[in-house]
Amino acid sequence: MKCPYCSFEEDKVVDSRVSKDGNAVRRRRECLKCSQRFTTYEYVEKVPLIVIKRDGRRESFSREKLLNGIRIASSKRPVSIDAIERVVNEVEASLDDLKTREIESCKIGEEVMKRLKTLDDITYIRFASVYRSFKDTDELLEEVVHLLEKKD
Ligand SMILES: [Zn+2]
Repeated sequence: MKCPYCSFEEDKVVDSRVSKDGNAVRRRRECLKCSQRFTTYEYVEKVPLIVIKRDGRRESFSREKLLNGIRIASSKRPVSIDAIERVVNEVEASLDDLKTREIESCKIGEEVMKRLKTLDDITYIRFASVYRSFKDTDELLEEVVHLLEKKD
């Protein structure tokens, strides 16, 4: 590992420990030339999740893309970035739990919608109208009525 002080490429590891959550190994290293110490972290590379789109095309799951989708759906709504991040974190965790390498995009959509429903009605409807692509306006209207009924 290149020394951040003098760029020398040889060092020795003086300490190595696993992080509290068990997800990383932290190593203290000492440069063999200038003797300065620095730290490196080692993480397990995540298995990439492949999303199967409606037309059958596949692409790797993008957290950024999901965040953006919800952000757009929630524009001008009282939904904080923190709340959106929380939704995305929960969705990501639920996808991890599935222990699958490939997942249909509509399933991810369902996971998101389940959570948006409790967060903000309008955001939910906007997101759902893109993701679920309601077959017609009747179906969309039905969903809106459904939400309104629940409020009473
Ligand atoms: Zn050095």
